[in-house]
Amino acid sequence: MIPNDTIVALATPSGAGAIAVIRISGKEAIAIANQVFKSVRNKDLTKQKSHTLHLGHIIDPSTSSGQGEKTLDQVLVAVFKGPNSYSGEDTVEISCHGSTFIQQQIIQLLLRKGCRMAQAGEFTLRSFLNGKMDLSQAEAVADLIASDNEASHQIAMQQMRGGFSNELAKLREELLNFASLIELELDFAEEDVEFADRSQFVDLLNRIEFVLKRLIDSFAVGNVIKNGIPVAIVGEPNVGKSTLLNALLNEERAIVSDIAGTTRDTIEDELVINGIGFRFIDTAGIRETKDYVESIGIQKTFEKIEQAQVVLYLVDGLQLKANNQLDVFINEIGKIQNQYPQKSLIVVVNKKDLIPVETLTAINNRIAAFQEELLAVNRKLFTNFISAKNKEGIEELKNTLLSFVNTGALRNNETIITNTRHYDSLLKALEEIQKVQWGMQQNLSSDLMAIDIRQALYYFGEITGEVTNDELLGNIFANFCIGK
Ligand code: GDP
Repeated sequence: MIPNDTIVALATPSGAGAIAVIRISGKEAIAIANQVFKSVRNKDLTKQKSHTLHLGHIIDPSTSSGQGEKTLDQVLVAVFKGPNSYSGEDTVEISCHGSTFIQQQIIQLLLRKGCRMAQAGEFTLRSFLNGKMDLSQAEAVADLIASDNEASHQIAMQQMRGGFSNELAKLREELLNFASLIELELDFAEEDVEFADRSQFVDLLNRIEFVLKRLIDSFAVGNVIKNGIPVAIVGEPNVGKSTLLNALLNEERAIVSDIAGTTRDTIEDELVINGIGFRFIDTAGIRETKDYVESIGIQKTFEKIEQAQVVLYLVDGLQLKANNQLDVFINEIGKIQNQYPQKSLIVVVNKKDLIPVETLTAINNRIAAFQEELLAVNRKLFTNFISAKNKEGIEELKNTLLSFVNTGALRNNETIITNTRHYDSLLKALEEIQKVQWGMQQNLSSDLMAIDIRQALYYFGEITGEVTNDELLGNIFANFCIGK
């Protein structure tokens, strides 16, 4: 299974930079590097200790133009000897100057000397195959690289350190012990013996069920943190959607204009509050609709709401001055709530700088009464009064947004699942464990139970990589970048 060729790739982003790092890994890594590297102190790379740095030049001994020897760059070479390297194999990292021309010349030279171009994630794949990390840790490497906010970074780091896979591996081992004992009983079927202590087994199953359920539940939080929470800002033209978006993002991203319907294109932007990412989906303005029901009913708005988890329903407070407007408005909120009971709805009353105090109070009281009604049927409605233009009430609105996220698990450093593949395997493992639990209650025969236990073990192993197949590995590592 472990490949024996030597791979090379650019480990830094492609394009020009101050420095680029080219990474070589495999049995011949040091020997190949030695052929093209001339140390300033005439060192032989193959005789150097692991984890050492060497200054010198990359020399192309035979350029295609027949000019003879050519110095490509002055470089710093790092030597790592397997198994004490990232991939677990002998590894050389060449830090060269960051021009794309130099990078390409050096890589091409190394290819001519016997390296093969690495595929996406191949260094990490080798690390996994060499037992340096389990599969979930390898996947965390990709998440870590992709993480762009504190929360997702924290989760990836925890998973990379072994996070939940250690816990699962331990439970799997215990389960494996029981499986062996139960299977042993099958060999002595005639004697009617019990090697596996049934009460201990029930206890183990309960513990496993508990852990699996916790991990499965954490996926909701994890998914949100990894991908950001989608937020839709909806409301009539000119209520201040673009202005609010700007205030939230604190910059002039969306075009603000007095002309209704100028926010034509759907703009998506991310805001990070306390390490949690919120993805704002701005809606296209609605040009000529006067009627509330009509305007909110347009297809686009509904599409946005469908995609969102949190809906900011923005209204121009001035328009709520007349009592009947307020009723229409409340009616409208009720409709959205009924249609999308799963979404968190925040009613944002904007332009409070223009609204007379008594009107503000009237709106507030009316909404409060409606909130009471909703609470009676166990629904919650959030309100914020803001002036998007003057950036008033924005912090409070951000706090409302944050209140939808269960960050408790994060703060307590609990394990959080973010990977759909793990989630699927955990669900299947739980299903099998529950079958075994049921079997225990029904006094099912050992041979039948053994099958379900094996199946549960299989799903456990799928997560950590004790059970793999080429297709699975291919899928996982294809999502990596080249050079990792
Ligand atoms: P959109 O069509 O909903 O995106 O609305 P815009 O964000 O383009 O805002 C429409 C107009 O309302 C602009 O002239 C804004 O400057 C103005 N506006 C937005 N928010 C406020 C606010 O809080 N107070 C006041 N006085 N004007 C606002």
